[in-house]
Amino acid sequence: MSRAAITTEPLSEPRGAARAVGAVPRRWFLAVAVGAGLATATGCAATRAGKVGLPAKHSLQADQLLVLSDFKLSPEHPLIRDLIVLRRQVAERLDLPLGSKQIIVYLFSDELTYRQFWHAAYPEYPIRRAYFVQSPDRQLAVYTSWSDRIQEDLRHEFTHGLLHAALHSVPLWLDEGLAEYFEVAGDEPGAVNPKYSDWLATAIQNDWRPDLRRLEQLEKVAQMKQPDYRESWAWVHFMLHGSPVTRQILLTHLQELQTTSAPTPLSDKLQKQFPDVETRFLNYVATLNSTGGWIATQPGRAGHDDGHRTQ
Ligand SMILES: [Zn+2]
Repeated sequence: MSRAAITTEPLSEPRGAARAVGAVPRRWFLAVAVGAGLATATGCAATRAGKVGLPAKHSLQADQLLVLSDFKLSPEHPLIRDLIVLRRQVAERLDLPLGSKQIIVYLFSDELTYRQFWHAAYPEYPIRRAYFVQSPDRQLAVYTSWSDRIQEDLRHEFTHGLLHAALHSVPLWLDEGLAEYFEVAGDEPGAVNPKYSDWLATAIQNDWRPDLRRLEQLEKVAQMKQPDYRESWAWVHFMLHGSPVTRQILLTHLQELQTTSAPTPLSDKLQKQFPDVETRFLNYVATLNSTGGWIATQPGRAGHDDGHRTQ
């Protein structure tokens, strides 16, 4: 692994580590719920990190976003502008208030430095391309390094930050499903991740069946496997675009999560409204196949009727 040179050009980014980063598994999210181990790691991060400090040379603030880096990043950089737009899109699409709680992004210039910091600060946790960490004092932070997937990773982790800033709590599967939903860049949120839709379409043909209740039982990040990310993404997409009713069920649930940590599970709410919700979900996911040309338009108006209402 070669270490990238650091550039100070406003619109240039450190290069050279991107391919190596690509080999690093997907990003992770850590929160207080992970356990006491993180609380310890968080409290000791500064000292245990030793000489491998956090990026601090340059700071850039925009709304809730504070980016700390060792290379200069213009406020007009497309990456920053994209995150500012994303903040509004998340609030609008999920009917959440625009928050003010700060989300710090520690943006390392290269993968090696990021790895060195991470191993020193959080030796208990395996390296991932990016991490979102909510510390015991509810400070929200993203750790990552520049790579060719930086936009996707930052959109994903920043969404975690926005959700944790707005909600009292958020179930792990829903947290990841929403982050996966918003990580796909585009004019409008909700563009289909073709890798996920193709995988799900194939899985359905092989008799895979969804299990939202199982997802709702997952509490630790280590329990979330790649298929769980795909299914979580699909449930979020189904609820936001399947019909106005499914969308409202999700939005109401998010409203409840602003004040409570244990509302009635979404699986119960969906089952009550749609006794055949599994069939509806499978039919919806089948339409997401990338070759089917699904286009995200208005939330809740993707062509599915609202039948089987119980009220
Ligand atoms: Zn995540």
